[in-house]
Amino acid sequence: MTSLFLYNTLTRKKENFIPIYPGRAGIYTCGPTVYNYAHIGNLRTYIFEDILKRVLTANEYAVTHVMNITDVGHLTGDGDLGEDKLEKGAAREGKTAWEVAAYYTEAFQKDMARLNLLPPDIWCRATDTIPEQIALIRTLEKKEFTYQTSDGIYFDTARFPDYTKLSHQNLDALQEGARVEKHPEKRNPSDFALWKFSPEGAKRQMEWPSPWGVGFPGWHIECSAMSMKYLGDMLDIHCGGTDHIHVHHTNEIAQSEAATGKPFFRFWMHGEFLNIAGGKKMAKSGENFLTVENALVRRGIDPLAYRYAAFQTHYRHPMEYSGESIRAAENGYRNMKNAVREIVLAADAAENRAGGSPVPSPELMARFMAAVNDDLNMPRAMAVLQECLKANLPPAEKKATLLAMDRITGFGLDKVETKAALPPEIETLVADRKAARKEKNWAESDRLREELVSKGYTVRDHKDGMDVFAA
Ligand SMILES: [Zn+2]
Repeated sequence: MTSLFLYNTLTRKKENFIPIYPGRAGIYTCGPTVYNYAHIGNLRTYIFEDILKRVLTANEYAVTHVMNITDVGHLTGDGDLGEDKLEKGAAREGKTAWEVAAYYTEAFQKDMARLNLLPPDIWCRATDTIPEQIALIRTLEKKEFTYQTSDGIYFDTARFPDYTKLSHQNLDALQEGARVEKHPEKRNPSDFALWKFSPEGAKRQMEWPSPWGVGFPGWHIECSAMSMKYLGDMLDIHCGGTDHIHVHHTNEIAQSEAATGKPFFRFWMHGEFLNIAGGKKMAKSGENFLTVENALVRRGIDPLAYRYAAFQTHYRHPMEYSGESIRAAENGYRNMKNAVREIVLAADAAENRAGGSPVPSPELMARFMAAVNDDLNMPRAMAVLQECLKANLPPAEKKATLLAMDRITGFGLDKVETKAALPPEIETLVADRKAARKEKNWAESDRLREELVSKGYTVRDHKDGMDVFAA
């Protein structure tokens, strides 16, 4: 098999993936901030991460996947002066911050299941690891990377010379063009909060005692604390969206490496944005706020059609989304499933005669794996899958190949319905046609076949009878 190459944002090149521990791979994926539904742009990133995990598994790595749930401390502004998204969400919905977090965590997990995203091995909540976060801030304090302002404890980025190694950004240019609100007490514009104090005289719903006073952690510290807690030093790959590069992941690296004195994750991988037709970015609210529920399910579109759509664009390229593009993807997805259904039926009929267990086509599988091992090139992998659908191969070998590919594509092709329950009037037509065939009344049999087809069904005859399913 070809070896696995992944694009590393840290080095700006595709690198051969070599794990820290042979045969094992630790991945940490920044999870949702649970104050609202995930939009399909967020979910595009989780689809890319799902493929990464499946490809690592196909390359025979034992994967440990950690995903966090941000249920505190993610502020609405780009800087450190905004409101806490959870507390704000709670005020909006008339619920407690804890209820809001629980509700949207469940909604996120439901969306993951609808997109066939494999759940992480470890889910962790920011609010469950407050002691670990405080301990990490204490370490930074002892090493003199922190300072205190009137509203919290901050990380002094000037004390960490490698601060821009992930983003490659020019901090002077950043300072001049800064859109972020100015914090008068910050020593450097890129400094960030590790711990924020609860506002004077106001009681927050989520707050904890700390060596510095009652408050809550800054957003970035949770991912450092949780990745180290759950992966130990198996820090192979850290992923997120490209919007995480400049602030969140840059800050994670700074505080983690300052605390431990060791490199924090070897590989950093980032999924590109989803653009709504017309070049608009996905909004946080309003008509451009598209979710699995409102963009897909309520329009009768199978969420897996979105998974299919996501595979048409490489994860490092922006993806265009429109009503037409998702309909086109839905067609492609349905055609693929229908073709697979035909192949499964033919293979099962053939298997009854031949016996034995067929193996996937080595040639097609080699090309499929070469595609996914080339920095998760799903457009190329999907082209090989389409080729397989039309290939001149015995049905059993085709079926085996498709199911092997689907361990990565994850459409659930092993569960393609070949004997779906039919409505009663269709069952009657099927029974009539069976009777006609038994009587060798071919004219009547043909007429009934036409009737079934005109009602949108596919009819497949074989020596033991026929299969009828919704086209
Ligand atoms: Zn994170």
